[in-house]
Amino acid sequence: MELNDTDRKIIEASIREIKDFPKEGIIFKDITTLLNNKEAYTLLMNHLYTRYKEYHLEYIAGIDARGFIFGAALAQMLQIGFVPIRKKGKLPYTTIGEKYALEYGEDEIEVHIDAFGKKKGAKVLIIDDLIATGGTANAAATLVNKTGAECVECCFIIALTFLDGIKKLEEKTEVYSLIKVD
Ligand code: AMP
Repeated sequence: MELNDTDRKIIEASIREIKDFPKEGIIFKDITTLLNNKEAYTLLMNHLYTRYKEYHLEYIAGIDARGFIFGAALAQMLQIGFVPIRKKGKLPYTTIGEKYALEYGEDEIEVHIDAFGKKKGAKVLIIDDLIATGGTANAAATLVNKTGAECVECCFIIALTFLDGIKKLEEKTEVYSLIKVD
């Protein structure tokens, strides 16, 4: 189920752009103005619910930190579990980690080792607000699969399609994005 054009326009119009944040040259997509807009937020969450109720998912994994907002809300609507994928050092129990390259240096995300239950192959949807280079989402998909679960799709509200993030990620898993920015 794809989003219809009328609803896409309402959601897109609710996202604010901040020039040169957090540094010069970046146009930051601010989703706080989507979240406090009850029409746009409701349309978005209802669409995600309608799409993913057919997937027989067992968990939603949200990427630190804005992926938690959409992921936790969607998991509750679907009546399934929510799992946070966090920046290194934040989770208290035993974790599995995955490093990924940044423009300068590297970063690491972690998930609790038992987050997706004992059974192998639990179906997991990964969600984040935005895909840019795809480094974070790629590491997240690898991490979910490393735990023994299965990443069935990665979902983003916004995709920056002028970067090659999606193409790389599509080699690993299905990718769904609502708003494409080129
Ligand atoms: P990447 O790993 O390059 O795909 O970056 C994705 C992560 O960085 C996501 O968690 C986004 O929230 C954040 N991000 C990157 N670029 C932007 C942007 N232009 N506006 C808002 N968030 C961004």
